[in-house]
Amino acid sequence: MDAERKLTFLLENKRLDGALSAIAAKVYAGERINEEEGLLLYERGELGYLGVLANFIREKRHGAVTYFNRNFHIEPTNLCVYDCKFCSYSRLIKHRDDGWEATMEEMLNQVRSYDNEPVTEVHIVGGVLPQYNMAFYMDLFTAIKRHRPNLHVKALTPVEYHYIFKKAKVDYATGMAMMKDAGLDSMPGGGAEIFHPEIREQIAKDKCNAEQWLQIHEVWHRLGMHSNATMLYGHIEQYWHRIDHMERLRRLQDKTGGFQTFIPLKFRNKDNQMSHVPETTVVEDLRNYAISRIYLDNFPHIKAYWAMISRETAQLALGFGVNDIDGTLDDTTKIYSMAGAEEQHPAMSTRELVELIRNAGRHPVERDTLYRVITDYKDVVFEDEQPGKQSRYYQLPVLNDK
Ligand code: SF4
Repeated sequence: MDAERKLTFLLENKRLDGALSAIAAKVYAGERINEEEGLLLYERGELGYLGVLANFIREKRHGAVTYFNRNFHIEPTNLCVYDCKFCSYSRLIKHRDDGWEATMEEMLNQVRSYDNEPVTEVHIVGGVLPQYNMAFYMDLFTAIKRHRPNLHVKALTPVEYHYIFKKAKVDYATGMAMMKDAGLDSMPGGGAEIFHPEIREQIAKDKCNAEQWLQIHEVWHRLGMHSNATMLYGHIEQYWHRIDHMERLRRLQDKTGGFQTFIPLKFRNKDNQMSHVPETTVVEDLRNYAISRIYLDNFPHIKAYWAMISRETAQLALGFGVNDIDGTLDDTTKIYSMAGAEEQHPAMSTRELVELIRNAGRHPVERDTLYRVITDYKDVVFEDEQPGKQSRYYQLPVLNDK
């Protein structure tokens, strides 16, 4: 049964709770749900019901298409001046001699090590330390662009930008414009956690607050640029905090349209100061993806990091509103594994990713950071399936060795 027929069937179910039926009718009509209705979905929407609604929206927007990209990560340091309770990078639990602090040259060597790889994006994010200041990052972005101009630089969050702009005494608008000039292409969605101060004060007290996070994204969007947004869920927040979080994002998106993707991040409890807090179940994770898809009607994409939630849950999530499962070539990121993610060495080849998506009955498409199609894998046959056929790699030019 296709997504529309399933929703029609659900709407005809006389035994369905009246309020839930009204929400389903709104979704069918393409109408926005309000905060009260969003909360009701968390409180009363069971998994099957939420899946029907979220999948209807997903398929209306994207059909079976499921995106992934080929990128690598640079994490300048795993030390941090802040002390977020959920973070395995926090200064209180990480002694300096356990950590790394990469130099500019080391980071550029990481970029050079991908010269012959068909990656389209470098994702740069890590802890906050004083030596990684505005000048450092501008030099880094400039050097990456000089070396490989078409490599998309997706780097740093408002947490870093707020910190380095304050130190450099520049306002957000000036700072972000300077970053753009240096080579920054887009901003990842991190650092959002939970916006409401009641929770943020407890888990991420000192870093940028909700208003600052949103303001930096707004400034970035006004430069004609794009970014993503996240929500760290499943710890001490309540459902209404999640709705409050998404409502703030939805309002900003109405103003700017600059967000591309929403990424719910599951709280993991390994080696951090919130290890006593139990993690959410897979059912709760899927419900959360679905409600995100339903609530954020102005966000084009909902993404699940397969490395964080496991390959199997990522496959399941494709039926609950998710249309992007990210995609790393190797285990260049330690952020997930240090926090206790399912994948301790996240490595998946393009073929494995494509098969993972196909096996979930979806249509794999490799994208670049801005969701332009690199390769449509619908009918691609891999080399060893059809001898003599070349794999369709997208090579970016490398200009020099500096
Ligand atoms: S979440 Fe980010 S800002 Fe907070 S301690 Fe970890 S690395 Fe630092």
